[in-house]
Amino acid sequence: MTWKITSTKLDQAGLLVDESLFSLGNGYLGVRGNFEEGYQANYKSIRGTYINAFHDITDITYGEKLFAFPETQQKLLNLIDAQSVDIFIDGEQFSLFEGEVIAFERHLNFDKGTAERLICWKSPSGKELRLTFRRLVSFKTKELFAIEITIDPISDIEEVKLVSTVNGDVSNFVDKNDPRVASGHAKRLSVVDVKHLDRMSLIVNKTYVSELKVACASTSQIDVEHSYSSSASQTGITEVYTCKGDQQIHFIKANFYTDTLRHGSMLADYAISLCKENRSKTFHDYLYDQQMYLDNFWKKADITIKGDDDLQEGLRFNLFHLLQSAGKDGVSNIAAKGLSGEGYEGHYFWDTEIYMFPVFLFTNPEIAKLLLTYRYSILEGAKARAKEMGHKKGALFPWRTISGTECSAFFPAGTAQYHISADVAYSFIQYYLATEDIDYLFEFGAEVVFETARLWLDTGHFYDGHFRIDNVTGPDEYTCIVNNNYYTNVMAKHNLRWSSKIVSILKQENSSRLLELTNRLGISETEINEWSEAAEKMYLPYDEGLGINPQDDSFLQKAIWDFENTPKEHHPLLLHYHPLTLYRYQVCKQADTVLAHFLLEDEQTYATMKNSFDYYEKITTHDSSLSYCVHSIMASKLGYHEKAYNYFIETARLDLDNTHGNTKDGLHLANMGGTWLAIVFGFAGLRLKEEGISLSPSLPNNWEELAFNLQFKGRLFRVEITKHSAQCHLLEGEPLIKPIRIKI
Ligand code: BGC
Repeated sequence: MTWKITSTKLDQAGLLVDESLFSLGNGYLGVRGNFEEGYQANYKSIRGTYINAFHDITDITYGEKLFAFPETQQKLLNLIDAQSVDIFIDGEQFSLFEGEVIAFERHLNFDKGTAERLICWKSPSGKELRLTFRRLVSFKTKELFAIEITIDPISDIEEVKLVSTVNGDVSNFVDKNDPRVASGHAKRLSVVDVKHLDRMSLIVNKTYVSELKVACASTSQIDVEHSYSSSASQTGITEVYTCKGDQQIHFIKANFYTDTLRHGSMLADYAISLCKENRSKTFHDYLYDQQMYLDNFWKKADITIKGDDDLQEGLRFNLFHLLQSAGKDGVSNIAAKGLSGEGYEGHYFWDTEIYMFPVFLFTNPEIAKLLLTYRYSILEGAKARAKEMGHKKGALFPWRTISGTECSAFFPAGTAQYHISADVAYSFIQYYLATEDIDYLFEFGAEVVFETARLWLDTGHFYDGHFRIDNVTGPDEYTCIVNNNYYTNVMAKHNLRWSSKIVSILKQENSSRLLELTNRLGISETEINEWSEAAEKMYLPYDEGLGINPQDDSFLQKAIWDFENTPKEHHPLLLHYHPLTLYRYQVCKQADTVLAHFLLEDEQTYATMKNSFDYYEKITTHDSSLSYCVHSIMASKLGYHEKAYNYFIETARLDLDNTHGNTKDGLHLANMGGTWLAIVFGFAGLRLKEEGISLSPSLPNNWEELAFNLQFKGRLFRVEITKHSAQCHLLEGEPLIKPIRIKI
């Protein structure tokens, strides 16, 4: 039951949401859950196929453009459409919106890595048949998107005709009224090649500006006698298969996508060679490979909750989509909407480091490492951006990006979120703590942590005995450009402190290799001492009267937002109030200080964290989907068990129940990671620190048992928690010198 989701929706709104929910991907290629045969003529569909990081560059138009505002941005593109197959039954076109739908359901199978539609249909003239559509985006052959259609006649049918197209005339979806969706530049690809040879279709598209190319080579098979014809236009190829209708028919369409970023200039040849190589494969072969991959994934990543089926479904759904979205090649990352839609234009944010990276770190460290490698690949760009922003040294990572340059046109809630640099450093440090991969630290991690530490030293300044950081924005986007944002300062402190610590670790490991690195980066002893001093003297705002950490220097002086008189339909506030209105009040879009308390709990006393949670909870709208999970984790820590559970519920089914109303634009990937965090860091109380990992469980009342696997320092552990016991078994690898501590 809980290894799949099912839908029977055929209404406009439901279909748009299902396109995201039933999307398939493998981190490289993503395909929305559109119907092969399309919808009703007047229905809207966001028909999409994407390759992670495949983008074009568009101009940013400003009314008033000031110095160092980014001039261009990247945009994930909707690519060549290979989903379409129209079916004609004795001349009548199959459609779920015509004739009689006797039975219809669709599934997304998390264990098999497939999506399917099971249909029993009667045509307007009374011809009855069963149709099964199955599709997958392969984890084994990342370029492959395959569709299988099975047709079983029930009544007498003379002829079945399948019309399969590959269409290169594609554009992106735009919505001028929603800042979370692109507002222009819909068409960014032109068709540069259309070829049909030996029953293979090839289309090559090229972007307008970035000069990237994408190729799609497609080949189909049908297992019954048939007649065949094909035709090509300037932008697409259509193939027609006609066969007798009194038999079971299997039709397979295998589409291979390649692009310049991964396959270089030979992309078209490569796509064709994949087509040829795979021609002898059956859909079963593809299913088998997919199953192997997923068996292995679930062995490491599954979480089971006894006593709550709905949550179990939500949990696996979220984990499956995280896996489908994560770039696994070091040149791509995880977009805010994964590969399930075009919201946020396929950009990567801090969402990866803080919300999704930890899931992979503890279930699949190899993927976690590749996510970090992507960040390293844009380090030079981050250094250039720091210079452009007036810093003498350091690396300022872009707030949102694909290829490494800043894509945010709204700097108060974009570039000003300097904390992303500390977030990136934080995840490199976490990776080291969880894997002890010293080589990776030498080669990549240290440099990132040093360069981001340099940014803080250059951004902040010593004043009145403290190191202070002015004019930045913390995670809460309803409070912008402030002095001493608690989150930013405490994360920068951690970044600075660890820079000098890493110097000591590397010195002990191999002092000459360290010297090589510090020489290459021009790091002096004085600079290292400055990092330590800035960390030690970092100013962390604290209010004696309330016993809390104020979000920033001026936060508590502002009036509190009038929540009582804000109509329900004015949420999310960002769609109804000018940013300046929001900035004038104490109102949080998302967890800010509360998040800092989770990430760096040893910086404050329990009482300060509890008072702060109580304070911020009342003024947080959770208009960002990145918020509930953090409140759930901290509620668990602070003993607010009911709240922890209620916040968790909001995360686990956020997309399944479309609670934010915009799932049609793509899934909320950070929130999906957040569900895992709320369980593992929240209910199981996992913490990763220098001294190792520990667990401090507190199960919700209605759960009988929580169990999950964990990878740590090359070992695989199984954690089993019931109301009365907690155990951690070593499944693979040598026992740890310092065992995992369980605090009951
Ligand atoms: C949130 C940001 C997040 C972005 C992308 C915004 O609504 O406020 O924190 O990075 O969405 O998910």
